[in-house]
Amino acid sequence: MKNWAGNIEWTPTAIEYPASEEAIQQVVLKAINDRQKIRMIGTGHSFTAICATNEVMVSLDQYQGLISVDREKYTATVKAGTKLNLLGDLLFEQGMAMENLGDVDVQSIAGTISTGTHGTGQELGTISTQVIALRWINGKGEMVECSAEKNHSLFKAAQVSLGLLGILTEVTLQCVPAYKLLVQNRKESIEKLLPEVKARHANNRNFEFYWMPYTDLAWTKTSNIVELGEPDKDNFFNYWSEYVLENYGFKLLCEWAHLFPSQNERISKISAAAITEVKKVHYSHKVYATQRLVRFKEMEYNIPVEAFDEVWKELMKIVNSRKYNIHFPIENRVVKGDDILLSPAYQRDSAYIACHVYNKKDHHAYFKALEDLFRAYGGRPHWGKMNNLTAKDVADLYPAFSSFATHRADQDPDGVFLSPYFQKLFGIN
Ligand SMILES: Cc1cc2nc3c(=O)[nH]c(=O)nc-3n(C[C@H](O)[C@H](O)[C@H](O)COP(=O)(O)OP(=O)(O)OC[C@H]3O[C@@H](n4cnc5c(N)ncnc54)[C@H](O)[C@@H]3O)c2cc1C
Repeated sequence: MKNWAGNIEWTPTAIEYPASEEAIQQVVLKAINDRQKIRMIGTGHSFTAICATNEVMVSLDQYQGLISVDREKYTATVKAGTKLNLLGDLLFEQGMAMENLGDVDVQSIAGTISTGTHGTGQELGTISTQVIALRWINGKGEMVECSAEKNHSLFKAAQVSLGLLGILTEVTLQCVPAYKLLVQNRKESIEKLLPEVKARHANNRNFEFYWMPYTDLAWTKTSNIVELGEPDKDNFFNYWSEYVLENYGFKLLCEWAHLFPSQNERISKISAAAITEVKKVHYSHKVYATQRLVRFKEMEYNIPVEAFDEVWKELMKIVNSRKYNIHFPIENRVVKGDDILLSPAYQRDSAYIACHVYNKKDHHAYFKALEDLFRAYGGRPHWGKMNNLTAKDVADLYPAFSSFATHRADQDPDGVFLSPYFQKLFGIN
């Protein structure tokens, strides 16, 4: 098996596709009996070895859909294998939507929350903060339930748990009434934008930007709720810009940059010049996500939002002066702080900075330089994205790590859900 980016490969001894909660429990009981270890996979969109196992792999692809909804409280309980795009449609049929999403919607809800996946929005937390109750089968084969009210401390461990407490089977989400967004994508000067970034985040529901390396250009994406107006019909110009240019056009540039490394700066300039304006209105689940057909490797760090200006200035200096063979844009988003034990946004409003390279290219020197910069400002990596954390780093960066570790040991005393990757990362023998 391989992850989406193709940078991690593994060979499980078996792949199980249970289709009911009872079947999931049987898989766990059998593994306990056979002294086998289990690892779960959603859609393998993480860039690290968090899904890798040489023992039993479990996928909940056969366990998707809505279980129940409360249309007065706007809550929905869903099967944990449900993919975000299916979930968006199912919620919309009930007049509901997720409060926020990231920029693709093919992941499973379990994988999404297990890694603290996020979108952007100063007043919006990571997607894990939309969860109000969870149910899973733990490493003793028991079914466990918790929520904000029931077993609160365990719930805070389970909202971002990396599959270390057991197999999530049900996720209850606090949703919102379905809403429409006006989305505006533009090309802007990075020099003029930087002094305004704070205000853009404050004055818009969702704002993010991508800086095109070695240029003065940024691609900004802004969305806000609109009450009036019908959703736009699919329009050829948007399709051309968002699907054809951003995927097939960009793929050609990536191959060119890969074959001729000296051309990266020029290719970044060409990509910047090709940014087109997009303005459209649609329901949220139709516009947050875009298609990503070009495969890349990614590192993304969370830093305290107050450090953003300084870190970004340093970042531009490093990239412009060291001239790495890169041309992928560098992305900024923000999220509201939370109280989830292993959330990168734990107890701080956060800025995220993500850097990418085409998956055929070497990333080491570039990622290392930026990782050193982010770490110097207390950076915590996105759990699904590339990083070089050690067990000591994890314990130092997460004030509530020992509390998570206690819950993990209690839920999975025999380490059924441990893998070599997590044993090393979390310092567990
Ligand atoms: C093109 C692309 C775009 C992306 N965009 C964003 C973005 O906008 N924002 C962002 O934050 N991240 C983004 N990511 C990262 C991605 O969203 C996360 O890594 C997410 O975890 C992937 O979901 P998945 O379903 O693929 O999970 P996987 O990568 O398959 O698994 C992630 C973790 O969840 C565990 N898991 C899976 N199922 C279960 C279960 N049933 N019970 C318990 N644990 C389980 C796995 O064991 C693993 O530890 C992107 C990645 C790609 C490739």
